[in-house]
Amino acid sequence: MLRIAIQKSGRLSEDSLKLIRECGISFVSSSYKLKVEASNFPLEILYLRDDDIPGYVQDGVADLGIVGQNVLVEAGCANLEVEALGFSKCRLSLAVPRGAEYNSVADLQGKSIATSYPTILGDYLAGEGVRANLHTISGSVEIAPSIGLAEAICDIVSSGSTLLGNGLREVETIFRSEAVLIAAPNLSAEKQELLDQLRFRMQAVRRAQRSKYIVLNAPASALDAVKALLPGIKSPTVTPLAEEGWVSVQSVVEEDKFWHIAAELQAIGAEGILVLPIEKRVG
Ligand code: ATP
Ligand code: ZN
Repeated sequence: MLRIAIQKSGRLSEDSLKLIRECGISFVSSSYKLKVEASNFPLEILYLRDDDIPGYVQDGVADLGIVGQNVLVEAGCANLEVEALGFSKCRLSLAVPRGAEYNSVADLQGKSIATSYPTILGDYLAGEGVRANLHTISGSVEIAPSIGLAEAICDIVSSGSTLLGNGLREVETIFRSEAVLIAAPNLSAEKQELLDQLRFRMQAVRRAQRSKYIVLNAPASALDAVKALLPGIKSPTVTPLAEEGWVSVQSVVEEDKFWHIAAELQAIGAEGILVLPIEKRVG
């Protein structure tokens, strides 16, 4: 039995549960239970505060965890990471009051900076040769300058609207983060085998999310050009249409290239371009 710790409620929770479910693992989750067991995979899910997850996994209380890299690195547990998961992307940035003069990080020399990430920030400043006074606070970091607690802050930013609303200006990104799968050191052979199975499934889910199935009709004369645009996993499937001189082409495209490819396909005479989601993709 593998035990995985995920965030009980917060920005990581929904996507963590979704990923486990998309791996074909079924469980009944309820808001008051702190522990559930899956019905069709030897997995137990623990619901914890995200800050506690690295420590639980480091100590082997949980075998696995899903947590933001920001929290993982801050806890000094970066070595536990086994796989980046592509969700909960955010950045850790330095910000100063909008009117404050700022040309480079050297301007923070001797200043006071409020943050919940003293380790990551301390390492960054040391690397830049800047000495500052760090005030560690656990939340509402953005209001620190306006109440006179600090002259700058270092906090998680996603859109920047919270900074703006507090009269702050983002001046440096010091760390980029996303959710990661972590594992305890020295798992037993049996647990390692289960982890490998889980990672195989997670990779299939993530690969599928990045790919789309594409079906289109094209004049047979344009087939070479279509093939060049749609290399597919091996090569596209081509079948003749009932109408003479036309073929149907099926292939797989990367989602972020789709719009560009669709426009080029249309330009070379393709018609009826359909795009379908892919649920799982192995290999
Ligand atoms: P907990 O109560 O479990 O301690 P928390 O308040 O510390 O939760 P959340 O705000 O739920 O944490 O954020 C969890 C993680 O999600 C962060 O550590 C970070 O990795 C990521 N995250 C934070 N803000 C964003 C955002 N705006 N967009 C995407 N991901 C984010
Ligand atoms: Zn937290």
